[in-house]
Amino acid sequence: MIVKTIQDEIQNYLVDASNFRGNCDAVYLPESAEEVEQILEIAIASKIKVTIAGNHTGLTGSGVPQTGIVLSTEKMNRILEINTKENYAMVEPAVLLKDFQNELKQLGFFYPPDPTETNCFLGGTIATNASGAKTFKYGATRNFVQELEIVLADGDKLLLKRGEVIAEKGVLSLSAENGNHLSLQLPNYKMPKVKNASGYFVNETMDAIDLFIGSEGTLGVITKVKLKILPLPFDVLSCVAFFPEEKEGLAFIEEARRLSYSSRSSNSLESIDARALEFFDLHSLNFLRTDYPQVDEKAACAVWFEQELTTQNEDTAAELWLELIMKHSGDVEKVWIGVDEKDKTLLHEFRHAISSKVNEYISRNNLRKLGTDVAVPDEMFLDYYFYCKSLVEKESLDYVAYGHFGNSHLHLNILPRNEDEFQKGKTIYKMICQKAVELGGTVSAEHGIGKSKREYLLMMYGEEAINEMIALKKVLDPKMILGSGNLFETST
Ligand SMILES: Cc1cc2nc3c(=O)[nH]c(=O)nc-3n(C[C@H](O)[C@H](O)[C@H](O)COP(=O)(O)OP(=O)(O)OC[C@H]3O[C@@H](n4cnc5c(N)ncnc54)[C@H](O)[C@@H]3O)c2cc1C
Repeated sequence: MIVKTIQDEIQNYLVDASNFRGNCDAVYLPESAEEVEQILEIAIASKIKVTIAGNHTGLTGSGVPQTGIVLSTEKMNRILEINTKENYAMVEPAVLLKDFQNELKQLGFFYPPDPTETNCFLGGTIATNASGAKTFKYGATRNFVQELEIVLADGDKLLLKRGEVIAEKGVLSLSAENGNHLSLQLPNYKMPKVKNASGYFVNETMDAIDLFIGSEGTLGVITKVKLKILPLPFDVLSCVAFFPEEKEGLAFIEEARRLSYSSRSSNSLESIDARALEFFDLHSLNFLRTDYPQVDEKAACAVWFEQELTTQNEDTAAELWLELIMKHSGDVEKVWIGVDEKDKTLLHEFRHAISSKVNEYISRNNLRKLGTDVAVPDEMFLDYYFYCKSLVEKESLDYVAYGHFGNSHLHLNILPRNEDEFQKGKTIYKMICQKAVELGGTVSAEHGIGKSKREYLLMMYGEEAINEMIALKKVLDPKMILGSGNLFETST
């Protein structure tokens, strides 16, 4: 097994995509679950903190060590099996999401969880319960995880199959490979009924596998995974519609969301049924205009949507969408439709370009971004959106607002130009999170908590809930060596 100890060689492991920085003494690169077990047995004996690393695309510092060692999964990167008869794949944790998606596409299959960044490892996406545009239809990563092989902090192995271990009266009983029995008292807090990636997933009758999904490297090392995969749809309608006024674009999303929910509950193929509904405000469009001449110069906002097509609705779906666009004052002549594969790829790039354009702008101007990842219940979303905007506009701060509005999930990125604005932005960021919590929403819908959002997790659930999370972790990791500093701070 490779072990890196020369500081020059380990700098990449000390930072993530949010520029969160840390320290460590060594980086271990195991090639199998057995080597993971060996590392953890040594670490626990010496009480050395272990930070599990995926591909460092995280945005909260969760894969960045503050001390101890890094266990990088990067050598465990094989696709072990793709079974197109039973619709599943077995993979090691460091398979790149984009490689997995490409491989599946060649076989006529796809894997719906699609965080905007595809350079992440599948293990990282499971540990953060990542989601993306298609989450509007398919939900987050957790919906596609069927089995997990996990090495616990003491080196013991756990194999969890969905449906096999269900909580009873708020207690999960787990049996590890060496025969150890673990009884986990689940915390009492109630999770918000919105897209959510904040803290441990808990409810009274939960499946044990769900506790580990989204646990941000604090409960065990994921060493093997069975994922559900789906056959590619017959075709996909992919479009960007532009609206002359923001309120029209937002009303378009509200109506498309309502129609999609109703089509799903009635299993109707002859109506609007979006799989993605994404919003871009005027400031976001201004970032994109130079690279994308397709952006309507009169647009105040845009909506990118996708709908999967069947042979039954391939002709009618586009008509229904164009009618809806017209109803909300969109110019149908300006609609940017992905006609062929090349166009559809360009539309995807357009959606993805906003986060990279903003990041480029930030680093070019040596600024620090304050990026929200909040979601609230659908019925509260519009008021909430205008409230968040009013806070930044009142202080005349630069910002872009975009996001997965189908899921009432807002990325409002504040772009402070100096330290004074940064401090004002931080206060606003906190108010935005506070309001989301008051409305029954979440402080993190997809990026997770990591090290940089701990205070907001505390704000969301309160101290008692955090203590319950710590107590739960201590059953699985008594010496508290894994993912130290993620979700909560602990002294031991
Ligand atoms: C431009 C950009 C856009 C993004 N857009 C989205 C988006 O739309 N949606 C979204 O959800 N995320 C998004 N992200 C965030 C990011 O891609 C995800 O958080 C990703 O899932 C992390 O994967 P990783 O392999 O890079 O993990 P890392 O960042 O290395 O680690 C993330 C966490 O996973 C843990 N971990 C990693 N591997 C394992 C394992 N095998 N076992 C146990 N724990 C493990 C780590 O300890 C850490 O806590 C974006 C990031 C960027 C840079």
